[in-house]
Amino acid sequence: MQVELSDLERKALLTRLLGGKLPDQQGRFGPFGGRYAPETLMPALERLEAGVKQYLADPKFIAELGRELDTWVGRPTPLTHARGLSARWGAEVYLKREDMAHTGAHKINNALGQALLARKFGAKQVIAETGAGQHGVATAAACARVGIPCVVYMGAVDIERQAPNVDRMAQLGAKVVAVESGDRTLRAAIDEAFRNWVADPEGSYYLLGSAVGPHPYPYLVRELQTVIGHEARKQMAAMTGGLPDVAFACIGGGSNAIGLFHPFLADEKVQLVGVEAGGRGTGLGENSATLATGTPGVLHGCYSMLLHDEHGQVQETHSVSAGLDYPGVGPEHALLKTIGRVTYTSATDQEALAALQECCAAEGVLPALESAHALAGAKAWAQENPAKRMLIGLSGRGDKDMPTLSKLA
Ligand SMILES: *Cc1c(COP(=O)(O)O)cnc(C)c1O
Repeated sequence: MQVELSDLERKALLTRLLGGKLPDQQGRFGPFGGRYAPETLMPALERLEAGVKQYLADPKFIAELGRELDTWVGRPTPLTHARGLSARWGAEVYLKREDMAHTGAHKINNALGQALLARKFGAKQVIAETGAGQHGVATAAACARVGIPCVVYMGAVDIERQAPNVDRMAQLGAKVVAVESGDRTLRAAIDEAFRNWVADPEGSYYLLGSAVGPHPYPYLVRELQTVIGHEARKQMAAMTGGLPDVAFACIGGGSNAIGLFHPFLADEKVQLVGVEAGGRGTGLGENSATLATGTPGVLHGCYSMLLHDEHGQVQETHSVSAGLDYPGVGPEHALLKTIGRVTYTSATDQEALAALQECCAAEGVLPALESAHALAGAKAWAQENPAKRMLIGLSGRGDKDMPTLSKLA
C-alpha cells in the first residue's frame, strides 16, 4: 500500500509546509506523523509540546542556545570548497562540515537544545536511547554541560559492538543501561527508554535522537537542526554569490537531512536529494532504504514509512554504517517524498566506502560512514547531470568508524 495524493493535494501540502502550518494541531505532516503512544505518555507529550512552543519562541532561550552553540559546540561549522572532489567529479562541490562540531557530528545540535529544554522543565534526569552510541555520547556531553544526570539505554548487542562509545559516555558521567529485551539493539533501547519515561514522566525528560517518534519530536528535532541549513545558505551565498543547484544529505532517521534541507525548501531551483543506505542489496533485510522500499505503518509512536513484512513485522536492517541502520524514517521525509519536493536515492555499502576513501584522498577529510552515503549519492548524481554547484552535508567524522574500516581494509 502507498499513500496516493493528487497533484492539487501535493501542491497544497507544500504550501502549508512552507507557510509553517505543518506539523498541524495533531502533529501531522499531511498523512504522516501524529502521536501513537500509550495513554500514560500523553500528558508528558502534551507538556513537552507546550514547553517547546513556549521556549522556541522565547528570545532569551534562543539567545542562550545560540551562545552555547557558538562557544561550546563550535558553530558556525565551516563550509569547505572541496577542490579535489570538484576536479574529479566535474562539478563545484562544497562540504558543510558537521564533522567539526563538538563530539564529531550534527547530533550535538539536538542534544544540547533538548538538554537546555530539560533544565527549563526542571527535570531531575535525562533519559536517552542510543544505537551506535553517537547520540548517547552527544547527550552525555550536553547533560554534563547543562548539569543534569543522564541515563542512556543501549541494546546489549550494541554495547558489545561499540565499546569505545560506552566508555566515552561513562567518562562524561552518564549511566549506561544494557537492554536485554527484544532485538537487544536500537529498537529495543527506544522501547525501554519510553517505558522508563512512562514510569516518571514529571521527573525525567526523554531526549530523542532523530527527527522521528511521536509529536512534537519530529518538529522539535527539525527546529534544532535547521541551524545547519541556515548557516549553509549564508555561507554558500558569501562564497559563491548564490544558492547551490542541488544539496545532498544521508538519511537515517532523517535529522541531519531535514536540518540541511528545510531552509532550502522554498527555493524551487534548489534540488534536494536524500541518500539512504542501500546496504548489500535490494532484498528485505539487506539494506535500510526505508523510503525506497518501505510501506506506511506505525513505529515508535509515529505513522511514517517503514521496512516491514506482509505480517507487519518490522524487518531487521543492514548497513555498513550503524547510524543509518534503522527500519523507520521521520514523517517529514515521508511527506517530502510523497509530494515530490525531495528526491530520495540510495548508496550501497561499497559505494559509500569508495566515496569515503575518495574524500580522504582528495580533501584530507575522513567522513563518517553515514556521511559517505551522501558523498556517494552526490558522485553518482554528478555523473548523470551537467556540471553543477553541489552542497553536501558532511554529517560527522569517521574516527569512530576506524574499527570497521580497519577490518575491511
Ligand atoms: C546518527 C548519524 C546519522 C543518521 O542520523 P540522522 O538522524 O538521519 O541524521 C548520520 N550521520 C552521522 C555522522 C550520525 O552520527
